[in-house]
Amino acid sequence: MEIKENKPKTKVNYQDICEKIVANLPQNPKPRLLLHACCGPCSCYPLTYLCPLFDVTIYYANSNIYPKQEYDHRLATLRELLADLKRDRGFDIHLIVPPYDNEGYMKPLLPLKDEPEGGKRCFLCYTMRMEEAYRYAAEQGYDYFTTVMTVSRQKDSQKFNEIGKALSAKYPSVSYLFSDFKKNKGQEIGTSIRKQYDLYNQDYCGCQISYEEALIRRERSAKP
Ligand code: SF4
Repeated sequence: MEIKENKPKTKVNYQDICEKIVANLPQNPKPRLLLHACCGPCSCYPLTYLCPLFDVTIYYANSNIYPKQEYDHRLATLRELLADLKRDRGFDIHLIVPPYDNEGYMKPLLPLKDEPEGGKRCFLCYTMRMEEAYRYAAEQGYDYFTTVMTVSRQKDSQKFNEIGKALSAKYPSVSYLFSDFKKNKGQEIGTSIRKQYDLYNQDYCGCQISYEEALIRRERSAKP
């Protein structure tokens, strides 16, 4: 699936669209939502927003993350958050962890390794993870799909929503829930939840390329 890189001339407020969709949801039973989540910290706010409205299942499709210990650490942090939210808010969130295959995942991305973070390589990476999860949602008969990644100020929410819209045309049995979770102070609320639960917060996006850039940053900041 090809997503064109051209930016729309005017930015759409996708959180407004989200609000309109959720205002008309049935509540008994709640619709089933498959939520792609990249890590615990980015999931804090989206889960508190979505769980009262949907029966939420997280799909942790993140073979981009390098090294494997980091993938495991982020997954353990996500599990910690789910336990905290169950204890304190009564949210019963399901979690699906597909197989991890960093080597296979990176093959289509490596030709774009010199692209700056936030460029073509990242758009392909968002598309690959969202499509893996969206396909699963279609196979398993979920009602809705979305991703927590729009909560990050470092990432382009317009792009996530363009990808989601294109995927909803490819898998029409699952509705795409447009979102921009960073609006309405979503990122700030998420940060305060992360701090409340003392969750591990990574300092790089995920792939080996971003990991090596983080090592350089860490080395520089350690210098007197
Ligand atoms: S920097 Fe992040 S989004 Fe971009 S390719 Fe690496 S893991 Fe994927």
